[in-house]
Amino acid sequence: MPARRAPAKAKFIAIQVGAVSFADEGVDNVLDILQERAGINALMLAVFTYGRGIAGRQIPGQPLPDHGAQKYDTDTFHGGSYAAVHPQYYRLSPFKDFRAPDLGDFDLLQAVVPKAKMRGMKSYCWLEDVYNPRFLPQFEQVAEIDVHGQRTGQACLNNPEVRDFLRSLLADYIESYDVDGVMWGSERQGPLNSAIGSHHGGFSGHTSNTCFCEHCQRKGRERGISVERARQGLIELGGFVDAARADRKPSDGYFVTFWRLLLTYPEILAWEKLWTDGQQEVYAELYGAVKAARSRVQVGWHLWHNNSFSPFYRAEQDYWKLRQHSDFLKVVMYNNCGGPRLAEYITNIHSTIFRDAPPEDVLALHYSILGYSGEAGLDQLATTGLSADYVARETKRAIAGVRGEIPVYPGIDIDIPTGPNEKKTQPADVKATVKAALASGAQGVVLSRKYSEMRLANLAAAGEAVREIMTSES
Ligand SMILES: [Zn+2]
Repeated sequence: MPARRAPAKAKFIAIQVGAVSFADEGVDNVLDILQERAGINALMLAVFTYGRGIAGRQIPGQPLPDHGAQKYDTDTFHGGSYAAVHPQYYRLSPFKDFRAPDLGDFDLLQAVVPKAKMRGMKSYCWLEDVYNPRFLPQFEQVAEIDVHGQRTGQACLNNPEVRDFLRSLLADYIESYDVDGVMWGSERQGPLNSAIGSHHGGFSGHTSNTCFCEHCQRKGRERGISVERARQGLIELGGFVDAARADRKPSDGYFVTFWRLLLTYPEILAWEKLWTDGQQEVYAELYGAVKAARSRVQVGWHLWHNNSFSPFYRAEQDYWKLRQHSDFLKVVMYNNCGGPRLAEYITNIHSTIFRDAPPEDVLALHYSILGYSGEAGLDQLATTGLSADYVARETKRAIAGVRGEIPVYPGIDIDIPTGPNEKKTQPADVKATVKAALASGAQGVVLSRKYSEMRLANLAAAGEAVREIMTSES
C-alpha cells in the first residue's frame, strides 16, 4: 500500500499593499486580482507611514505598472494613518493629528478588512518607523539628537513618548478593526554602523550620529557608559571617515586605524549596542501590548534588507533573540534589487573601513562571511541581481535562527525600483524565488514592496510557483 501523506499545509501567501491601490482600482477588483492571479490569502495593509515606498503609487521616474491610476502621486502623497484616528487612544500622545489626508475619508481598514474576511483572507496592519517632521508639530520633542546636539528627522526609540505613541496606534488599530495581525518595520541602525556607511543607499560620509537625547544619555549612564567618551569617540570616528573619503590614508592603513579607534573608545560600541537594544525593547513592548489586548493577533517584524549585506548589522539581528518577542518574522530577501543594493553597500563600506583592499576583494570577503556562493562579481552585480539560491540560503539561516519555533516569511522582490540599467524583475525571477523560499522551509512569503509597483505578469508568476509547490507537496 502506498504510504499516506499528510495533506500539504496551506502557506501564508501575503502581499504588501497600500490604501491608494484600493482607492484607485476598487477594493473588490484588487482583491479579485490578488486572489486569482497570485493566490494571496493575507494582506499586509500599509496603514501607517509617511513614506511613499510602501504607501504611495509607483515612485516618480519609474515606469507605471499595467494596472492602477496611470499617473504618479508626486503632488498628492502625504502619509500618516490611512485608517481613522480615534482620539481616545491618543490623549497622552505627542502626535494627535496624523490622519493621512491624501485619499479623503477613505479608511483602509474599514474598507478592506471585512471584505477580505468574507473571502477567507487575513488582514495585517503594516506600519513603518517613518515620520515627516513637517507634518507633525510635536516632532521636535521626540527627535533624535546627534553628537553635536542637533535635532534630526528620526524619532528616538528610547523616548517614552514615541513608545507610547506606537502602543496607542496599535491598540487603536487592533481594537477598532477586526485584524489578524500587525507588522512594524524600522529600517534603522545605531551610530557606529551609520558612521562607517554600513548600509545600502546613499552615503555622503556625513551622518548624524545619534542619539544623545536626555533619555539616551540617562540609559547610557545607567549602563555605566561615559556619555562624554561616547560622544567624543563618535566625533573622532566622523573625523576618520572624513579623512578616508578624502583619500588621506593613515600610516597604519584604514582598517587598523579604525580598530585602534574602537580600542581607544569602546564607548562607540557601547553606544551602538544601546541604540540596538532600544529598538529591540520597542519590539518587546509592542509585542506585550498587543498580546495583552488581543492575544490572537499575530505580531511580527519586517527586518531590513541591510541584514543581507552588512555583517555588522546582521550581528545585531539575532533571530533567536527576536523570536522571544515575535509570532513571525518577515525577513527581507529581495534578490533583484539586492544586486544593486549590495553593490551600493560595498561602495559605502569600502569608502571607509575597507579602503585598504580593492572593492572586488571586499565583495568576495563579504560573500564568504555572509554565506553566499555563485553570485555575480562587482562589475555584474547591479545588472544581474542576486540569485534564488541567495533566497534559499537566507531562508534556511532564518529558520535555523528561530529554531523553527515561529514562521519565517521571506520578503520576495516584485518590481522593486532599481536604476536605469540595473536588474529588473522578470516572471522567471519571481517564480524561482518563491519556490526557493517555500522549498527551503518557509511557511509563507510576503510579496513586496507594494502592489502599486508590481506588474501583473510578475504577480501571476508568484501564484504559479505557489501552485506548483503545493501540488508537489500534496
Ligand atoms: Zn534618544
